[in-house]
Amino acid sequence: MIDRGDYWQCAALIPKGTDAERRAAGLAPFMDNFTAAAPWLADRMSALRSWDDVKLLDVRLDRLSRWHRPGLLCIGDAAHAMSPVFGIGINLAVEDAVAAARYLVGPLSAGTVGLGDVRGVQRRRWPTTALTQALQRFAHRRVIGPVLAGDPPFGNPRRAQRAAELLTTSRWLNRVPAYFLAYGALRERPPAASLR
Ligand SMILES: Cc1cc2nc3c(=O)[nH]c(=O)nc-3n(C[C@H](O)[C@H](O)[C@H](O)COP(=O)(O)OP(=O)(O)OC[C@H]3O[C@@H](n4cnc5c(N)ncnc54)[C@H](O)[C@@H]3O)c2cc1C
Repeated sequence: MIDRGDYWQCAALIPKGTDAERRAAGLAPFMDNFTAAAPWLADRMSALRSWDDVKLLDVRLDRLSRWHRPGLLCIGDAAHAMSPVFGIGINLAVEDAVAAARYLVGPLSAGTVGLGDVRGVQRRRWPTTALTQALQRFAHRRVIGPVLAGDPPFGNPRRAQRAAELLTTSRWLNRVPAYFLAYGALRERPPAASLR
């Protein structure tokens, strides 16, 4: 839930493919889910007038095998659709743009951009993309899927708790996710000429 000043933006995760059946069941059961989680919302549910006020954001997690064609380079979600897990998709899109600038500014200025240059951008960004998507897929399979099915994450709440403790209490281990989320597998630096 996000406080937008004069309204609350509320989001709920639902299993893929279940939107149509939820809409067919009507707004009341949908609203009940929210009031069960946050009872103080009960007196303002009338603010939601119809399903037109409820948007479905479809989550996809995939990537192109080739990010370029003559005259075209795809970066960000156009090359690799990211899931919301870890809130990291925007980082990757920005990092792709920074890498593309570094690889292409010289050839673009000289008017000599070739296949090798755009291929270089994909080759550079592939490890971070593949690793991030693998981690997101793991989280979907071991955490989000089970939770949506009403089961404990990792099949065992104690195991999930132990993993979280290890990551947060170990002086070295807790730096790894922070570094990875901030910079990705390979840190991208802008072209030298763009730095003042
Ligand atoms: C439900 C959901 C929640 C998410 N939450 C987070 C989060 O909290 N944090 C995070 O980092 N990532 C999150 N992500 C992932 C993140 O949204 C994407 O990875 C990121 O937005 C990709 O950025 P992008 O610029 O490549 O693409 P986009 O953000 O999709 O931008 C593409 C833009 O191009 C425009 N466009 C499309 N077609 C045309 C056209 N023909 N002409 C002109 N313009 C066009 C679109 O309108 C859009 O503005 C979430 C994803 C989903 C599905």
